[in-house]
Amino acid sequence: MLRITQLKVPIIYSEQDLMKKAAKKLRIPSEKIRDLKLIRRSLDARKKPELCYVCTVDVTLAGGEETRILKGKKDPDINPAPKPYRFPYSGMKEMAEKSLQEGKKPPIVVGYGPAGMVCAYYLSLAGLKPLVIERGKKASERRRDVERFWKEGVLDPDSNVQFGEGGAGTFSDGKLNTLIKDKDGRCREVLSLFASMGAPEEICYDHKPHVGTDLLIGMVENLRKKTEQLGGQVLFETKMTGLLQKDGAICGIEIEGKDGKTKNLSCDQLVLAIGHSARDTFYMLQRQQIQLEAKAFAVGFRVIHPQNVIDLDQYGNADEKSKEALGAAAYKLTARTDSGRGVYSFCMCPGGYVVNSSSEPESLCINGMSYHDRNSGYANSAIIISIDPVDYPGGGNDPLSGIAFQRQLEKKAYEMAGGAVPVERYKDFVSGVKGSDGSKKSKQELTIEDLPVKGRWQEAPLHEMLPSEYNNSFIQAMTQFGKKLPGFDDDTVPLCGIESRTSSPVRILRGPDGQSQLTGLYPVGEGAGYAGGITSAAMDGLLAAERICRQYFGKEKEEANDD
Ligand SMILES: Cc1cc2nc3c(=O)[nH]c(=O)nc-3n(C[C@H](O)[C@H](O)[C@H](O)COP(=O)(O)OP(=O)(O)OC[C@H]3O[C@@H](n4cnc5c(N)ncnc54)[C@H](O)[C@@H]3O)c2cc1C
Repeated sequence: MLRITQLKVPIIYSEQDLMKKAAKKLRIPSEKIRDLKLIRRSLDARKKPELCYVCTVDVTLAGGEETRILKGKKDPDINPAPKPYRFPYSGMKEMAEKSLQEGKKPPIVVGYGPAGMVCAYYLSLAGLKPLVIERGKKASERRRDVERFWKEGVLDPDSNVQFGEGGAGTFSDGKLNTLIKDKDGRCREVLSLFASMGAPEEICYDHKPHVGTDLLIGMVENLRKKTEQLGGQVLFETKMTGLLQKDGAICGIEIEGKDGKTKNLSCDQLVLAIGHSARDTFYMLQRQQIQLEAKAFAVGFRVIHPQNVIDLDQYGNADEKSKEALGAAAYKLTARTDSGRGVYSFCMCPGGYVVNSSSEPESLCINGMSYHDRNSGYANSAIIISIDPVDYPGGGNDPLSGIAFQRQLEKKAYEMAGGAVPVERYKDFVSGVKGSDGSKKSKQELTIEDLPVKGRWQEAPLHEMLPSEYNNSFIQAMTQFGKKLPGFDDDTVPLCGIESRTSSPVRILRGPDGQSQLTGLYPVGEGAGYAGGITSAAMDGLLAAERICRQYFGKEKEEANDD
């Protein structure tokens, strides 16, 4: 199989067009191409309004053609296709059965977000019958709790936007792009898994793949059902409340059921996939002297723009058909400011909503989400300022001081607007920061139409939220962004706060084999501080499954199975 890169096609194109382009590049008739698979498609808008896709395809050619072309090849865009990733333990059911019968204990996975879900699926595929512990509820029940919270403000601390089946990413835009280098093919593997569970096929080749909340919920449920079919088990509304350890190794966990009763479960392999919001669990780990360290993250505000402003900036006056095929436009912005702090756009949601994503009583944080068709008519993203442990209370000496810092901000955001999402127009934010007497306050009231927010919102002095140094960095960056995307720093732009859960402020230390200082304990995903986003958390879950299988079956089995 050959891999061909840099194939340009118009936004509206057919597989035939791609085939012709590939044949032209290979200087062979199309008939010689037996099979063509689209591997990657990214938008090239450098010559807008002339937009096109740049594609990478894998082709299988008629007998002997590939060797001939590779022998004489001069074109750097034509290469042998890389070997696809293959999970090395999928055929180990019998051996797994045998080792479990001989008394080996099934692994336990705590947390059913992307990291825990994918880890549990592959452990089940290997026949190891993992037990998953999830403090939240099944996706369908969880959806009811989340919508009730947005409508009535009633928060369930264990069933909300952060906690429950599918983890933090379920009520999201479901963007699946990641900056992680995918040299082993794990990224493509998890995307294909998600597609096989109901996510749109395009996620396997689009440069910026996304699912949307409406499709994510079904995908997550299908993955759980498949994992259960393969022998895995998921206990919902069950919280891990303690670790059991003996001679430097994990030997079990303490759990608390929805009836509040606790009991112990034993295991020799424990995956901690708890996410960045499991604060009670981080404090428990600290009490049990699990090695933790404070980690940098970022805080900021979400900005909202009419989607057509962003579409015009990104697509120019491209033809309607192409714009329709492309859907709502995205952007990615970064700025370096005088304070030396990086300010950048994060979790941009084209055609999406700002969501109240709180998980603790009397504290408030926000994030963004969208549905698959991204048609709210508004674009939003968090414009966030990078902060380091030195900025945390006590200078970051306490590994959990970042959580304390987040809690301070979220409490302030809650109080600032009586539990509603605090909102302020950019003009008023700037004049507030600059300390003007408010006489310049914008006359235009914020009307409901302007705010695609899930949850109550209320006007409030957001400029009083962060230290002035952060505010000034924010304003400086907004000015730079306004030069890149006209209208971005318009006076009327609504800001919402506070975006404080951008990544985990803590890292649970692990060694090169993925284990913490406790043998058998595998911290994974975003909460452990080794991933940021759905796909990288899922990839980390897959890696942990491989590592645990290696413990069960040994490396040689992996090699034998790899051929
Ligand atoms: C609203 C929102 C939108 C987002 N949008 C995107 C996006 O578009 N694209 C993207 O890539 N990322 C997005 N993210 C980030 C992404 O969701 C996370 O990076 C990802 O979910 C991390 O996966 P994880 O499995 O490591 O942890 P999580 O998804 O956080 O899952 C952890 C799970 O562990 C459970 N848990 C915690 N403590 C315990 C305990 N003691 N016992 C039992 N269970 C426990 C929790 O209930 C939770 O279900 C978004 C996040 C939010 C909140």
